[in-house]
Amino acid sequence: MRMPRLTRQGERHTKWRANPMWICPKCLFRWKVLPGPIDEKTKKPRRKTDKERNAEKVCRSCKGVGLHCGSKKEADYYAKVQKMKDRGEIADFKFQVPFQLEGCKYIADFVIEDLDGTIRVVDVKGYAGETQLSRQKIRQMRERYGIKVEVV
Ligand SMILES: [Zn+2]
Repeated sequence: MRMPRLTRQGERHTKWRANPMWICPKCLFRWKVLPGPIDEKTKKPRRKTDKERNAEKVCRSCKGVGLHCGSKKEADYYAKVQKMKDRGEIADFKFQVPFQLEGCKYIADFVIEDLDGTIRVVDVKGYAGETQLSRQKIRQMRERYGIKVEVV
């Protein structure tokens, strides 16, 4: 029997397949991050060169530069908050904001500023369930910055 893949915390991986996407911040066009070209020796996708990666992230619709999202859900959420900002329902938002925590860094997916100035942090989970690590970071965010992280 093959061993199930374990996460860093020794937990069993739930059915998780990352589905990274690009999103154009200007026109909100979304497209898939492609695997690298097949390496002839190993027959497996190899790492993309910077040139290949840069060519891939150009928006086909408006030639803007795409932003890398870890999952399709994250890309969809980006489109959602951008539309909310356009309609004036929120004051502003920032994407992928780093916060320094004790001994580690937490990259918040979205930091949203409400119309009354309240700051909210939203973490988009691309798969079911949270890992021990993210729970710890969420707790530290509350203790250190007094920010409650919403997990969507
Ligand atoms: Zn575009």
